[in-house]
This record gives sequence, C-alpha cells and structure tokens, in this order.
Amino acid sequence: VFTAQTSVFAEPTNLGLEKKNLVEYHDSGAYMSEIQTVANNASQYIAHEALVNETSADPKKLAIVLDIDETCLSNYSNMITIDFANLPDKILEQISAANEPAIQPMLDLYQKALHNNVAVFFVTGRDQSLEKATIQNLHAAGFENWSGLTLRHGQIPTIEYKTKARANIAKQGYTIIASIGDQDSDLTGGYALQTFKLPNPYYYLP
Ligand SMILES: [Mg+2]
Repeated sequence: VFTAQTSVFAEPTNLGLEKKNLVEYHDSGAYMSEIQTVANNASQYIAHEALVNETSADPKKLAIVLDIDETCLSNYSNMITIDFANLPDKILEQISAANEPAIQPMLDLYQKALHNNVAVFFVTGRDQSLEKATIQNLHAAGFENWSGLTLRHGQIPTIEYKTKARANIAKQGYTIIASIGDQDSDLTGGYALQTFKLPNPYYYLP
C-alpha cells in the first residue's frame, strides 16, 4: 500500500531560478539603488558628526572603517564569469588582477569623508598576501589618501579579526564614528558608534 509521505520541509528555492533573481536584482538597478540609499544615509551622518566635532570645545580625531569587497570595490563581473561559484583559486586569481571597479556611491562617500577631515581606514578579510594587489586596485579605482589598510594574517575568524583591527585604530586615538560593510561579520563586535550594512545577496561570510 502506497502511503504519501509528508515532510516538514517545503521545497527550498531552486538554485537556477535564484541565480536568475540575483542577476535581475543587479541588472534592474535595484542593487545599486539600495547601495546608494545606504551610502547617502551614512554620508549625511558622517558629515553631521564631523560638523558637530569641528564646533566642539574638545574636538576628536574622527575615523570611519570601510570593508573593501562589495563595499568599496565590486566583484560582480567576476562573479558572473564563474556563475556565482565559490572557487577559491579562481577568486584569488580574479582579485590578484586588481581591476575591480569602484562602487561609485561609496567612492563619493569616501571623498566626502576626507573632505570633512574624517580619516578612512580599510579593514578587509583579504589575506595579507594580497596587499600589493589591493593597494594597486584601490588606487586604480580612485581611492587615495587612506590612513590605514589592514589585511588578515592567518586563519583568525572574521568577527574576531575585524573587531581587533577596529580596537587598534581606537588605540591610535581615533573615534570610529561609522563602520560600513556588506556582511554582518564586518559590523559586529563594537568599536564603532554606528554601523551601516550594504546589501550583498551574492555570498555569505560568517
Ligand atoms: Mg565585503
């Protein structure tokens, strides 16, 4: 006798269809439009904090902390060429080519922060072996005059690594008014007065 099996699971989203949705999210302009909204909010907040600080009796050294991939530089065209696959060797090769374009709303935020005398520190999960390529790519994309660039040394987990990096910036006498990234692991752990999360449905980094 055939008995229909019931399952507590609904069929999960089909991977092929989901990839189409992810391409549509990008190609429709929705992805960039949402980045623009977050960047505008963050930039207004940074400008306001800079103004308050400038007119304060006891001005502080203000800083912001930025992630790099899918925050300041876009890997989107690279992800398309490998159909969103997680291929570490291929991704390493793509990053080493140092030709990723700037995410324009974040380049605008970056330049405005510097203009407002707010120091900018990059804290990236990229390995230290990619330091030269990273510097080259940031310059090529229009990022200049940052105050620090921290890359990951060894296998330290992201939240622990990024929190320590922000603590080190604070130790140098800076008040970190904002931390901006595309992953929750960029933003948890403290040492930032405000955090701003950019959209990134393309990959997840715990
Ligand atoms: Mg990132």
